[in-house]
Amino acid sequence: MTLIYCGECKNEVSNTALDCNKCGLKLRKPHRAVFGKIIKWSFILFNILMAYWLFAGMEAATEGMSEAQKAGTSIVASFGAFFIFFMWATGDAILGLLVLFTRPSKK
Ligand SMILES: [Zn+2]
Repeated sequence: MTLIYCGECKNEVSNTALDCNKCGLKLRKPHRAVFGKIIKWSFILFNILMAYWLFAGMEAATEGMSEAQKAGTSIVASFGAFFIFFMWATGDAILGLLVLFTRPSKK
């Protein structure tokens, strides 16, 4: 722990303090660590990507096909959809936990 000077009242405060204990100036926001930010954004991007993948995949699977082909592919497609949903849920669970663990601390 080192001491830094408050920008407002020049009081010496710990560099781990969120605000000055004398004047109450916010010294730093309780921000997420860089890793936490990456996790948060990858969580958002992951959801967008999965939604896009699902829709794009569904469309591509049935495009330019006869009804019979569609029927055949729909089985494959539903497996694909199931796989995507499974990946989605698993990824969300993992990333969700990471987001929780990297939340800014109250201290
Ligand atoms: Zn101060």
